[in-house]
Amino acid sequence: MREEWASDRLMKTVERPQQTFVRGQGSWLWDSDGRSYLDFTQGWAVNSLGHSPVVLVEALKRQAEQLINPGPAYYNRGMLELASRLCQATGSDQAYFLNSGAEANEGAIKLARKWGQRYRSGAFRIITASNSFHGRTFGAMSASGKPAFQNLFEPKVPGFHKLPFNDLQALDDALDGLCVAVMLEPVQGEAGVLPATLEYLQGAERLCRERGALLILDEVQTGMGRCGSLLAEELYGVRADIVTLGKGLGGGVPLAALLARGNACCFEPGEQGGTYHGNALMTVAGLAVLDTVLEPGFLEHVREVGEHLRDGLLRLSARHQQGALRGHGLLFGLPLQGISAPAVVREALAEGLLINAPQHNCLRLSPALTVSHGNIDEMLIRLGRAMTRARRKKSEVA
Ligand SMILES: *Cc1c(COP(=O)(O)O)cnc(C)c1O
Repeated sequence: MREEWASDRLMKTVERPQQTFVRGQGSWLWDSDGRSYLDFTQGWAVNSLGHSPVVLVEALKRQAEQLINPGPAYYNRGMLELASRLCQATGSDQAYFLNSGAEANEGAIKLARKWGQRYRSGAFRIITASNSFHGRTFGAMSASGKPAFQNLFEPKVPGFHKLPFNDLQALDDALDGLCVAVMLEPVQGEAGVLPATLEYLQGAERLCRERGALLILDEVQTGMGRCGSLLAEELYGVRADIVTLGKGLGGGVPLAALLARGNACCFEPGEQGGTYHGNALMTVAGLAVLDTVLEPGFLEHVREVGEHLRDGLLRLSARHQQGALRGHGLLFGLPLQGISAPAVVREALAEGLLINAPQHNCLRLSPALTVSHGNIDEMLIRLGRAMTRARRKKSEVA
């Protein structure tokens, strides 16, 4: 098979199933054999409007014909318009565009350290959370509390201090004059969709204000409507000094943003850059997504179908005697006991359903924000069958 020749030449960085995907539309994907799959992963919450949505395709087509990239040292309309629209919609003062979530977090770390040099006599330590995930560049890996990163590619970038997530007392004890920032995910996605508690996130904001540290929120996964509001911080009634966006912002193409408020806007010329940063093609993709998410009724739809998905998953979970569902909006983690999550993912694929397992005991669902009740009902049928099969196979082995 042609697909097999190709896979030998790809570095083995991840175990992939054998399918080669050739087409996508909304919540559906098709492989090279013409089989269809209901996609409740959407590239890890990237395709916020589903596969190949008309608005995105049209925006990219039009822009590709006009101007792809004049270079980061010149203005283009997309970067100007997206910066002003995104700042207005999120109540931010400045924006900067990059290619990936990891890069946006690198930018946030640099911005915080710059701020520390300017306002906090060189303080540079950043507190992050255990089991957090901020990306795979060196700074972002060093900031991450993901256990699998612990001894990988040592030595890491110094200056990060990890504390247990949702432990406000630990933060209270550790946040001293050497700390320039606290960097958190409102919902820890990779850790298995673990939402911050209201008390923790609001407390973190208050402690940052009291002790003169910046609050950085990594909203790469939670932002752009994923949790039912444009930013997840709104759900918590919190306002960070720095917010990073990625994933859903580009609707599937590489685009991320660094947003800053107040005196956290302290980059000077020469301190941040990148060949593709703010290019005309990707920023119009961001505009198409932002326009759509801000259309009247769109976020209401996310919340409404999110409730439908929550109800269905709760029923499924109870029927299979599983744990308590976690998440907001259209980002859910379903903890499993007695069935392996990767086994369910494999059985689901055989049922024509894409979901993923961020942990061995947890499934994650991050469908398109445009998902329908019908898609959700069909997903629940397929997921139920997959869970039953995974359990049956396990008991056959035992
Ligand atoms: C995916 C993710 C990242 C990394 O984004 P990339 O685009 O893969 O670099 C960072 N933070 C969080 C919370 C994420 O979910």
